[in-house]
Amino acid sequence: MRALLVSDIHANLEALEAVLAAAPPHDVVWNLGDIVGYGANPNEVIDVSRRLGQIFVRGNHDRACSGLGGIEEFNPIAQRAARWTEAVLTGDHREWLRHLAAGPIAPDGPQVSCVHGSPLDEDEYLLTVRDAWPSLHDAQAHITFFGHTHVQGGFATNGDEWFRLAPRYSGSRGDAVEFELPLREGARYLLNPGSVGQPRDGDWRAAFALYDDAQRLLTWYRVPYDLREAQQRILNAGLPDRLASRLREGR
Ligand code: ZN
Repeated sequence: MRALLVSDIHANLEALEAVLAAAPPHDVVWNLGDIVGYGANPNEVIDVSRRLGQIFVRGNHDRACSGLGGIEEFNPIAQRAARWTEAVLTGDHREWLRHLAAGPIAPDGPQVSCVHGSPLDEDEYLLTVRDAWPSLHDAQAHITFFGHTHVQGGFATNGDEWFRLAPRYSGSRGDAVEFELPLREGARYLLNPGSVGQPRDGDWRAAFALYDDAQRLLTWYRVPYDLREAQQRILNAGLPDRLASRLREGR
């Protein structure tokens, strides 16, 4: 079974289309949430996402943009984007977002889990080994896929030692690249495919991953996309300028 992992698309249609064009053959799509918020094409991105599969975890922006709460905790720019998104969503899409399941969900038996933030709290940011330790320690699943930080990488433990994981890419920032991580028997993993639509790890390219359970292999990918078009749509929509400029920075 090969699962395509996507997270934090954030209504960036150009980035999602580039990911799907570059994605290797896969059997299922596991979507780790924040489908909308920030970007200019929430309805189109929901349509494409729904066609791809049934495994979805709700993100904090999916919750806020569909009126389920949490918007007051956002910074002013994120609040403006969430209010804009809620206003332009079709009724059907709003209802669909409202019914997404909060994680953790088990898409393929008890060994693998999908969450938005962490297994313990859907809004928690796992940015450091210290953040990750309680989740890795308590997790029932051997592999937990998470998003929310918009940082491609993850954490692992073999019981004694703790590791921070990150892909190491070569080539220029204009290339499509991939990095393979063999998954060891007996180790526990927290793995983030990165953000499709608003990376924050200093690399502007759209991020995603492929999990192959038979080969026990995770592959991280980065692909260029039509950044200018995504930025222009944000500006044309009247969304905050910063949401366009940060896409170039990957911050
Ligand atoms: Zn997000």
